[in-house]
Amino acid sequence: MAAPKVAVVGAGLVGLSTALCISEAFPSCPLSVLAEQFSPNTTGDVAAGMLIPHTYPGTPIHVQKQWFKETFAYLFAISNSAEASEAGIHLVSGWQVFKTPPKDEVPFWSDVVLGFRPMSAAELQKFPQHRWGHAFTTLKCDCPPYLLWLEKRLRANGVQLRTSKVADLWELHSEYDVVVNCTGVGAQQLVGDRELLPTRGQVLQAVRWHIDLQPWASPTPSLTFEALRFLKYISTSQISCERMNLSSLGGDAETTKKPWSVCLDERFGLIHRIRSKQCRLYSLGLGNDDNQFEVSMAKSGCEVHRFDPSIKSAHIQEGRRLWYHRLSVDWRDPNPAIAAHRLHSNTKKLGTILNEFGHQKIDVLKADVESAEWKILENLILEDVIEQIGQLVFEVHIHWPGFEVSGNDSTVVRYWYSLLRELELKDFRLFHTYKDLSKPQMFLKKAAFNASSCYTLSWVNTRWQ
Ligand SMILES: Cc1cc2nc3c(=O)[nH]c(=O)nc-3n(C[C@H](O)[C@H](O)[C@H](O)COP(=O)(O)OP(=O)(O)OC[C@H]3O[C@@H](n4cnc5c(N)ncnc54)[C@H](O)[C@@H]3O)c2cc1C
Repeated sequence: MAAPKVAVVGAGLVGLSTALCISEAFPSCPLSVLAEQFSPNTTGDVAAGMLIPHTYPGTPIHVQKQWFKETFAYLFAISNSAEASEAGIHLVSGWQVFKTPPKDEVPFWSDVVLGFRPMSAAELQKFPQHRWGHAFTTLKCDCPPYLLWLEKRLRANGVQLRTSKVADLWELHSEYDVVVNCTGVGAQQLVGDRELLPTRGQVLQAVRWHIDLQPWASPTPSLTFEALRFLKYISTSQISCERMNLSSLGGDAETTKKPWSVCLDERFGLIHRIRSKQCRLYSLGLGNDDNQFEVSMAKSGCEVHRFDPSIKSAHIQEGRRLWYHRLSVDWRDPNPAIAAHRLHSNTKKLGTILNEFGHQKIDVLKADVESAEWKILENLILEDVIEQIGQLVFEVHIHWPGFEVSGNDSTVVRYWYSLLRELELKDFRLFHTYKDLSKPQMFLKKAAFNASSCYTLSWVNTRWQ
């Protein structure tokens, strides 16, 4: 007997998870997912994705607890695997606060999440309008990457993913033996389920004020250990890149004085964006004459914007694809209420410039900003602008801490290292390092650690599409 043909209708979290389960349990069954919308247009794409159960009337608590336990164990295993970052599953710690004590002060799921405890009086003082709360660590499922990861696994299992609106489940009767309805709130219309109603929910994303510092490199802070960890980190490629030569695209990169490397391997988006003439380069500089890299990128078909506060006019266009703007990129916007800041109105955060230019994406961000790179990078990370960038090519200067970077030497190096680790958390991978031996061999004003004062580092955003 031929294996039954199965259709899952719906490509939200429930549909794709159900399809994955079926494809693994019954690999011989031909399986299709049919949905009007796929990610990024499903409910999960706007959800917080926190694993915190509600209590549903009508289902015994021990059954609800078993469901939660199984879900937690399944996702916890992913969070501990090499796939965690691509799948977007990770642990988060936080508080759940209440204005009045809840009916179940110890909820049924308290021994499934990690480290559940009542909030202390000092913690509750942070929430003056709330009288009760618990603290715990649970899992967070970032749904946009999770849904893409599920789609990838389904395709690898030979599952067909088809965009199609189903008007009546019976229309699938002739083609499929089994139909699974995972249409979420769409089921209200599809099967006339009037009891199905969306409830209210809001996700507020708070602004981050500082990056997370990595633990010290040694049990007691030491410049030697910090420096060795940092220098090893910036000298070690995290991903290989075969094609970095722009001249293969018809530009004349071989005349470029500096080693500005971009990764043109087919598995990353840049080469495809160059071929389809959709590529955009932002270049941040401070009166530096060497613009060969920008010219090469423009010749290969990229739209190039060079930000340089030293040029004479507000905007200059050179050729079809190369623009100069009299703007310098900073880690804060000028405050118009402060007279001294008004003088610096040509200074803006990168996020502000992107908004003003109406640009959603930058394929390559090149920065040669003479020690302002650390604070600019921090701003890009804190405001999530980094996610709009495909590749980063940064010159980093380590002969002094950099503008507005303070602390003793080991604190500064730990901060630099932590910034670069934040990039890794955002799925950027270092693929090229150039140590500039023409510059003084200085590390925080000392000739030490065989370091150069200047390195050019190139990263690729492995999630870039
Ligand atoms: C703001 C917000 C925050 C949330 N936070 C959390 C949280 O922290 N934790 C948590 O667990 N949950 C949270 N949720 C709830 C969670 O996001 C949803 O329960 C979940 O995403 C529902 O997934 P689903 O697959 O059932 O439905 P959906 O994602 O809505 O998917 C339905 C699928 O069916 C398709 N479809 C519908 N009708 C048809 C049709 N006629 N023909 C073909 N295809 C059809 C749709 O196109 C879609 O692909 C939140 C929700 C919101 C809105």
